[in-house]
Amino acid sequence: MNKTDLLIIGAGPGGYRAAEYAAKQGLQVVIVEEDEVGGTCLNRGCIPTKTYVHSTSFAEARERMITVVSQLRSGVEGILSHPNITLMRGKASFVDTCSCSVGGDIVTAKNIIIATGSETKWLPIKGVDDPRVVDSTGLLQLETLPKKLCIIGAGVIGMEFASVFQRFGSEVTVIEYLKECLPALDSDIAKRLRKLLEKRGITFKMKTAVENVADLDADAILMATGRKPRTEGLNVEAAGITLAPNGTIPVDSNYQLSALGNIYAIGDVNGKQMLAHAAEMQAVHAVNHILGKTDNIRFNIMPAAIFTEPEAACVGPTEDQLKEQGVNYECHKAFWRANGKALAMNETEGMLKLFSSVDNGLILGCHAYGAHAADIVQEVSVLMCRDTTVSQLQDMIHIHPTLGEILKAPF
Ligand SMILES: Cc1cc2nc3c(=O)[nH]c(=O)nc-3n(C[C@H](O)[C@H](O)[C@H](O)COP(=O)(O)OP(=O)(O)OC[C@H]3O[C@@H](n4cnc5c(N)ncnc54)[C@H](O)[C@@H]3O)c2cc1C
Repeated sequence: MNKTDLLIIGAGPGGYRAAEYAAKQGLQVVIVEEDEVGGTCLNRGCIPTKTYVHSTSFAEARERMITVVSQLRSGVEGILSHPNITLMRGKASFVDTCSCSVGGDIVTAKNIIIATGSETKWLPIKGVDDPRVVDSTGLLQLETLPKKLCIIGAGVIGMEFASVFQRFGSEVTVIEYLKECLPALDSDIAKRLRKLLEKRGITFKMKTAVENVADLDADAILMATGRKPRTEGLNVEAAGITLAPNGTIPVDSNYQLSALGNIYAIGDVNGKQMLAHAAEMQAVHAVNHILGKTDNIRFNIMPAAIFTEPEAACVGPTEDQLKEQGVNYECHKAFWRANGKALAMNETEGMLKLFSSVDNGLILGCHAYGAHAADIVQEVSVLMCRDTTVSQLQDMIHIHPTLGEILKAPF
């Protein structure tokens, strides 16, 4: 039997960051991974898809993806070679509240962090077992470019693949049940982005439900209808854990299972914010909580991006949400076409909405689409973490000519 301070299940961005940080803080860590280290993000999520965005052809994209992923995987293996970390290969399964079995071995720990991530949520549509139907992992494994690609779902994954495969030369159709794409994005921005992609040649069928896959005229069909927590085979019942009705592991604000003080669940598996950077920061917070350390991570300020072409990004509430909440807000708009650097780059498509409070001037959020929108929203996110007002932003000097000056334009 192995005994350790901290047992981590899953070596994705949540798990490996928790291991790295805990080991540097002096804890003895065992981390268990049943697949490649790096998790969904590195092997079949953020990194492979972003390699596709930055490649000119499908063939080049596939080659670059394999190189980039293996380079980053070696980096994670390097992190996990810290003397305080033991990496165990295999599937972890709870035996009781303090122990898991991995293969034939039992690991017992003072604290356990579950970081098992998520998997594709398959809709129970008629004909879903048609061999043309793939999820994002399956699409990344295709060796030939589909002539016609049909995407079910206009969320982040669906929109990113639509943008990239259209550029590679596929004829792309996106089918979405809701009236607008990207529900977490300001509806005004989402609509403009969709219209732009439509102009580029992507067909959108909004307010449409797919009833039978056999009706779809496509060589490949991407199921992009969301992700669900991954807990199969984890035997959580043995630890006294009850899953929420939607399959997530319920946690408190410290990512701890309140009834079981020694168990934490971070990243996609708790369903709170299904983003790689959210998983990493939840990891840091959970380890701090184990160590009795306080931190000031503001999980309510969570920037996110959609890597279409051009990209979109957001932090804070949408304008619709501000209205629903009865917030006394002001909306400041700016356009890429009025920015010198954007014109010089020939990237004139884009719009930004920055929201501030009428009562105290505080920046409440920002939603945008346009070249490098994620970097601009990242700046707003930092300002929000420092409780900045719009008049303080006006006093801050930005380099000329930069896209960052777009933030100064609305004032
Ligand atoms: C196509 C796609 C694109 C994405 N793009 C982005 C993006 O651009 N930006 C972004 O922020 N997020 C993106 N995401 C989301 C991001 O990948 C996840 O939010 C992130 O990977 C979650 O990290 P995690 O550590 O919680 O879980 P994961 O990365 O899923 O890692 C969990 C790990 O646990 C292992 N595991 C599971 N069960 C067990 C067990 N019982 N025993 C041992 N090991 C186990 C798994 O094998 C896996 O390696 C994308 C996702 C997809 C699918």
